[in-house]
Amino acid sequence: MKKSAAEILAGLRDHVDFLAEAGADFVLAGTPKDPGRATGARSAPKDAMEPPCRPGPPSQELRGGAASAHPQPDDRDPAEIERQVRECRFCPLHKLRTNAVPGEGDWAAALMFIGEAPGRDEDLQGRPFVGRAGQLLRKIIAAMKFREDEVYITNVVKCRPPENRVPHRDEVEACWPYLARQIGLIKPKVIVTLGKTPTEYFVPGRAAIGELRGKFGDYQGIPVMPTFHPSYLIRNEGNREIRRMVWEDMQQVMVLLGKK
Ligand code: SF4
Repeated sequence: MKKSAAEILAGLRDHVDFLAEAGADFVLAGTPKDPGRATGARSAPKDAMEPPCRPGPPSQELRGGAASAHPQPDDRDPAEIERQVRECRFCPLHKLRTNAVPGEGDWAAALMFIGEAPGRDEDLQGRPFVGRAGQLLRKIIAAMKFREDEVYITNVVKCRPPENRVPHRDEVEACWPYLARQIGLIKPKVIVTLGKTPTEYFVPGRAAIGELRGKFGDYQGIPVMPTFHPSYLIRNEGNREIRRMVWEDMQQVMVLLGKK
């Protein structure tokens, strides 16, 4: 489908915005300064280190979506999965939500972004990543030469935790069958986990996100690239080193997907 001039200009503006914010002097050089970094994680700045992750992914049963009491949407029907999520009352997070947020994008996407949980804006709109962090994520997506509707964006829990706290493990486990079905149906070529919460469910171990980022993990044969959450970039606005690291991570994803 042909893009209009306005769409092309908007995409170019987003691309340039993110490149500038990532540090144009680095990014416009085209490749990481240290090509040997392509498969190794760079240490994060000291203040980027997170407390040790809770270990391990959800139980195998939940990873496979086999929790007996959980709703069982038709794995082949995206609309049915979304409907089940919007009506779900399987964990206590449903009590305070305005809207559940299943996710959005292309159900045949090669690239899937998985964040932590909906925030206030997402809860109000029923869409993922629409707040300030979401705007930055969408700039990153444009900078990666993807349209928003070419990727799929979701979270490990579909309802907003109170006061935006980190979702508890039992909440993630309760919600996991939906994510497992989304991944199973989309079959992405690459998953990007945003921040420590989703990463700890995809990449085993107790390492901090600053140590895990930049190296591909594996989830059922799908490469998983952990990187910092856009909200972390916003909290550290002006720290070009963090932006540069995120951009390095995304460049590795782009190489894998033939975008570089
Ligand atoms: Fe259901 Fe997930 Fe919302 Fe809990 S967070 S109520 S499991 S959709």
